[in-house]
Amino acid sequence: MSKRAYNFNAGPAALPLEVLQRAQEELVEYQGIGMSIMEISHRSSQYEKLNEETQVLLKELFAIPDGYKVMFLQGGASTQFAMIPMNLLKEGKTAHYVHTGSWADKAIKEAKLFGATAVAASSEEDKFTRMPDLSGLALGEDAAYLHLTSNETIEGTQFQTYPDTGSVPLIGDMSSDILSRPVNVAQFGMIYAGAQKNLGPSGVTLVIMREDLLQDAPKGVATMLRYDTHVKNNSLYNTPPVYSVYMMNLVLHWIKDHGGLAAMEQRNKEKTDLIYQAIDSSDGFYRGVVQAPYRSRMNITFRLGTEELEKAFVKESEQNGFVGLKGHRSVGGLRASTYNAVPHESCKALADFMNDFRSRNQ
Ligand SMILES: *Cc1c(COP(=O)(O)O)cnc(C)c1O
Repeated sequence: MSKRAYNFNAGPAALPLEVLQRAQEELVEYQGIGMSIMEISHRSSQYEKLNEETQVLLKELFAIPDGYKVMFLQGGASTQFAMIPMNLLKEGKTAHYVHTGSWADKAIKEAKLFGATAVAASSEEDKFTRMPDLSGLALGEDAAYLHLTSNETIEGTQFQTYPDTGSVPLIGDMSSDILSRPVNVAQFGMIYAGAQKNLGPSGVTLVIMREDLLQDAPKGVATMLRYDTHVKNNSLYNTPPVYSVYMMNLVLHWIKDHGGLAAMEQRNKEKTDLIYQAIDSSDGFYRGVVQAPYRSRMNITFRLGTEELEKAFVKESEQNGFVGLKGHRSVGGLRASTYNAVPHESCKALADFMNDFRSRNQ
């Protein structure tokens, strides 16, 4: 097999090699049925088993307590930006948001289309180089929910703790760090994530919701955009993204086989320490964008002295087998996305390349 790229893409992103190989083995014939999984009914016993097993694996790995429902939806995390206020922002209530950067901003803008919104906390004045302190947050009686973005994929910040919001449901967009570390799911009313960063390929969106939030969705909400529709039908109301759910199932098995979330967290810490060390030991040649306590273990953002140097870095990195190191077009600079499936070996190679590039350009 030819050498795999050092893949630091932000999303869609690296998948575990073992998962791709397993999918390859099963592509033409899935478990002895004479067809691929893509060619059978989503009402077949084979798909129903896969649907069920994937939910069980998620509950086990993420330690989802009783009283929560798991849904496999479509439309990406971006559709959740609308579905959340459509279903959960009732007349007379206000949707509260934590503004932490690009993705939070999109969630806020979308919610404004549906009702009253408020920014409960923001790190905008620090140019989103940190996460706001949520410990003293006082939410009024009228708060429908508090929405936060656990990891800002573009800026490279990550929450290290989550606030206790009492009776106000806490909602987390965990698209870019889900299953990268253990989380106390009971603190949340809802958690959601597009799959294409840490869970599998694009096409499926994971939603985990506390059962009481499924009640009393406004009557006017379209059938496909109601959570209760998908829960009642066990994510089989219409044709689900069968292949994406299948791939997510394989990724979940891979996480389990590699020791679960505590092991993922440890691995991710070791991987990203290599790169952060290359930044911090560079005498200012590389500058981390984010304040140290808020640095993400999933998206490492950094800059060089000039844009010319950054361009040269990207170009040379590509010549050396690295992919995806250019920062998001909205913020510039450089970004290495180090999701669960990015191997330690890739991060080591990047740290070595960074040290070498510095020694040649300082
Ligand atoms: C990628 C991303 C999204 C958007 O996901 P889509 O599935 O493309 O809609 C939303 N939030 C965060 C934090 C992301 O990283």
